[in-house]
Amino acid sequence: MQIDILTIFPHFFDEFLRHGMVRVARRSGRLDVRITDLRAFAEDRHRTVDDRPYGGGPGMLLKPEPVFRALDGLGLEAGSDAPEGVLPLLMCPRGQQLGQRDLEEFSGARRWIILCGRYEGYDERIVEAYPWRRVSLGDYVLSGGEVPAMAIIEGAVRLLPGVLGDQESALRDSFNEWTGPDGLDHAHWTRPPEYRGRVVPEVLLSGDHGAIEKWRRESSKQQHSNRVELRESSTAASGSSPDDRQDGAPQEVVPGEQDVEQDL
Ligand code: SAH
Repeated sequence: MQIDILTIFPHFFDEFLRHGMVRVARRSGRLDVRITDLRAFAEDRHRTVDDRPYGGGPGMLLKPEPVFRALDGLGLEAGSDAPEGVLPLLMCPRGQQLGQRDLEEFSGARRWIILCGRYEGYDERIVEAYPWRRVSLGDYVLSGGEVPAMAIIEGAVRLLPGVLGDQESALRDSFNEWTGPDGLDHAHWTRPPEYRGRVVPEVLLSGDHGAIEKWRRESSKQQHSNRVELRESSTAASGSSPDDRQDGAPQEVVPGEQDVEQDL
């Protein structure tokens, strides 16, 4: 699988590409990741990729020109369908929330082209001109599409045939074959059998595979009740107002993205 990532922060991915399953997949030739620095497609001396929104308001937007030009270079034509096997992915909090089924579908594509937004977002012509699948990581706003891109890549890479040492382990994960599409994995223990007074459930040491499987099914169901409890307790807690903050700490001043860009 080939993945092209369009970003204004190309070095964001340096470490990410060197570890874990992403590294394994790259080393075995199953994954080829190419980073496109959007600034390389800017048209001015300052390599400007952002501009102010028409109509006013706070923040900046990703300009259309560097994105269109970068996509020209990658063979994705504005106003056309994506070539066979090519999946253009737009990181966007207004997109479809990513689920395991999406990852399964996406991992079947031959090539992804991921656009990572920044600032307040992007000029809408970028959205209109290409057959994007708009993908959201969840109902919250991050500062850029790089972290969502990494999440999607990590999730999909482990589904590529031959990447996980034991393919069955993916089938036993949450939201998979063993648990069912909405099911959750059971709890796990490893050695030692006792640590700081905490012991491993005896059934797991019994060697009785039938009993272990039954116990795991129960544990898997239990995870659901845990989730419901967590959700209920967080809904109850969210009744508090931001003024309830007790820390009294002064607000940290975070440099604007314009300043950060100078580090590049
Ligand atoms: N004004 C936009 C948010 C811009 S955040 C809005 O409220 O919808 C800047 C960029 O970060 C976005 O363009 C997108 O590429 C990325 N991003 C932020 N949150 C995201 C999320 N939950 N899922 C996917 N991408 C996200």
